[in-house]
Amino acid sequence: MLLTVENLTKDYTTRFGGRKVSALRGVSLCVAEGEFVAIMGESGSGKTTLLTLLAALEKPTGGHILLDGEDLSALPNRTLSAFRRDRLGFVFQDCNLLDTLSLRENIVFPLVLAGKSRAEMESRLLPLSGRLGITPLLEKFPYEVSGGERQRAAAARALITEPALLLADEPTGALDSGSAAELLGMLDDCSRDGQTIVMVTHSLDAASHASRVLFLRDGLIEDEICRGAQSRTTFYPALAARQTLLRQKGGAHLA
Ligand code: ADP
Ligand code: MG
Repeated sequence: MLLTVENLTKDYTTRFGGRKVSALRGVSLCVAEGEFVAIMGESGSGKTTLLTLLAALEKPTGGHILLDGEDLSALPNRTLSAFRRDRLGFVFQDCNLLDTLSLRENIVFPLVLAGKSRAEMESRLLPLSGRLGITPLLEKFPYEVSGGERQRAAAARALITEPALLLADEPTGALDSGSAAELLGMLDDCSRDGQTIVMVTHSLDAASHASRVLFLRDGLIEDEICRGAQSRTTFYPALAARQTLLRQKGGAHLA
């Protein structure tokens, strides 16, 4: 398994009053190399928390995350940032490009940090920017291009290090439907080329691009559904039906 998550828990304690929020209450999951896994859940179900822990940006309260057999919580902090830079790629809802750098400079930034040669940067940049359709925009600054183009540049920045795992948090959340479709098509291409992807989203449309979808509710995985040989056209209604069923089931114990 590329990624193994065992009984992961995360509690947040609010500063005032000290009320404890259990954002994750024992999440276990496995992701094989080359899988495209979507994690769906309503707002507040713990999606961002899970991704933040997978990204090793925060420490879990309990449980383990193993990437390629390496336990993230056992890595010392100074190794952790190099590990994050070399093994993981991130795409967030807000693309987080640096406004003072051109798209080209933004995209190669992780390679600059990793001390790669200029030749290597160029040889990785051009195929990627070509695939993402942003080669003509490389000398522009983030504020000179559209939201969809910025997000594709952010995806290029995430992929340029050839990460073992690409993590995406609501990557289409801030995009119009046309740009969202383009970005999701790009993720499909990457997935076809063998890139392992974990994407959290509340969008059925985005999730229908994945090969497997996990449903998160109140900090627990409550169900999963595999796409198998289905096309997206048949997987989408299957996902929608499952989501409706889970909502009814979840609502029943509250009533
Ligand atoms: P989602 O991304 O699915 O909307 P989150 O992971 O952001 O869910 O949040 C899950 C729960 O944890 C929510 O109840 C949220 O209020 C709480 N939470 C998230 N981050 C923090 C934090 N930094 N401090 C306190 N509570 C938090
Ligand atoms: Mg979130």
